[in-house]
Amino acid sequence: MEIRAAQVPLSGWGRIAQEQAAAYRPESWNALAAVVASAPEKTVLARGLGRSYGDSALNGAGAVVLTERLGRILDLDEERLTVTCEAGTSLARLLSFLVPRGFFLPVVPGTRFVTVGGALAADVHGKNHHVDGTFGRHVEELTLLTSSGETLRCTPDENTEAFDATIGGMGLTGFILSARLRILPVETPFVRVVKRRSKDLDQTLARLYEEEHLSRYSVAWIDGLARGRSLGRGVLMRGDHVPLAQLPAGRSSRGHLPEATGPSVPFDAPSFVLGPTSIAAFNALYYAAGRDGTSLSGFAGFFFPLDAVGAWNRLYGRRGFVQYQALLPRDAAADGCRRLLEEISRERAASFLAVLKTTGLEGRGLLSFPRPGVTLALDVPNIGERLRPLARRLDEIVLKAGGRLYLAKDSLTDAATFAAMYPRLAEFRAAQGRLDPKARFFSSQARRLALLEAR
Ligand SMILES: Cc1cc2nc3c(=O)[nH]c(=O)nc-3n(C[C@H](O)[C@H](O)[C@H](O)COP(=O)(O)OP(=O)(O)OC[C@H]3O[C@@H](n4cnc5c(N)ncnc54)[C@H](O)[C@@H]3O)c2cc1C
Repeated sequence: MEIRAAQVPLSGWGRIAQEQAAAYRPESWNALAAVVASAPEKTVLARGLGRSYGDSALNGAGAVVLTERLGRILDLDEERLTVTCEAGTSLARLLSFLVPRGFFLPVVPGTRFVTVGGALAADVHGKNHHVDGTFGRHVEELTLLTSSGETLRCTPDENTEAFDATIGGMGLTGFILSARLRILPVETPFVRVVKRRSKDLDQTLARLYEEEHLSRYSVAWIDGLARGRSLGRGVLMRGDHVPLAQLPAGRSSRGHLPEATGPSVPFDAPSFVLGPTSIAAFNALYYAAGRDGTSLSGFAGFFFPLDAVGAWNRLYGRRGFVQYQALLPRDAAADGCRRLLEEISRERAASFLAVLKTTGLEGRGLLSFPRPGVTLALDVPNIGERLRPLARRLDEIVLKAGGRLYLAKDSLTDAATFAAMYPRLAEFRAAQGRLDPKARFFSSQARRLALLEAR
């Protein structure tokens, strides 16, 4: 079978790491297997919709394999509540299929423009992590194409080592071909949202802890530029699916989610657009508008507010940005978050996207990110030569607090710091080595962080 690559410029969503890559776009599993077996590049890597922020879906001198043409929905079992699809299926596609039929996915991240393969490989979490765990917890079965050409069926009880290394394994164990996922019946496409404003970090955290079990979904937006007594002020938002009986008259019980974004940002914005002054003004307005109250929201507005604008990452201009996401154990969260926010606020480096959320039990993925605690995620614009020293200082705070960083977001940390944060890294390396002894699957991030055993 003839295989041919195109040379394309690629980056992560933050657009800091940019690489010229050999990209394959197979249209069938056979063509994909041919690429894995015989592409001349030394290494290959699956790439979904490129929504990881850093270098997780980049592969330096190796090849990337785009999964966009491997995105068929294969089966819906309404009795057993499962959907089966190819791994290149986007959550946008899946939701536009499921929602009108009265179903939802048990876990969704903050954008629906990710693939099932990307969601599994990063073992993504949503606003309900404290209740429902990660995406990987709701997988009944996945099929994995390994570097030997074998297709492994992996479930929580069969080929468990491959299952646990692949969920959260960032594409390094092989190519996820398909997955059978559990789905959630929902009676309407609406979410009842409760908003509560908090005046500082202590109050934001206290409300998150007190109210997390009042709703299935909860998250707090915080003003990453507020300082002094207002540091960590924010708006807690919690929500639940609305049952039919509570739907106001005149609202349709069957929703539709568009598969595409609204209008896109057409060019790289000049730096003042998201400069400290405009962000501070935006944050002040957003905080003022976040009055306490209850409202009804469509799915998209609650789960995916940023999806309304296509290519919004261009608002940060040509230099790009990083998202710094750290998870801290609860007993260290107040002090750790305060110190992280102070560092970022001192550099005037925070942005409009700053989110705090509680997390629940750890999943089984060997490199999965969430475990019990609180996660703080902040967009940080590229502030040039000050960026890396800032990231080092933030990493030190996270390490000291016994916390960790998220591979799907990280662009800047180093191998030693990562290893100190992930006690199961050695187990992952051993499992990955058994599945892929010649290290055919590789990524720029795996090189930077020495995620694989030296071989
Ligand atoms: C606006 C925004 C909000 C977000 N919110 C959240 C959030 O709330 N929670 C959260 O957890 N994450 C969140 N993310 C991160 C995002 O969910 C993850 O980075 C996800 O992995 C992106 O999926 P993708 O299809 O774009 O994969 P890519 O970014 O293309 O790839 C990510 C990784 O998945 C691997 N991969 C992709 N497809 C396959 C496959 N078929 N087989 C094997 N490996 C594969 C790649 O090799 C790579 O390592 C957010 C990202 C954005 C941009």
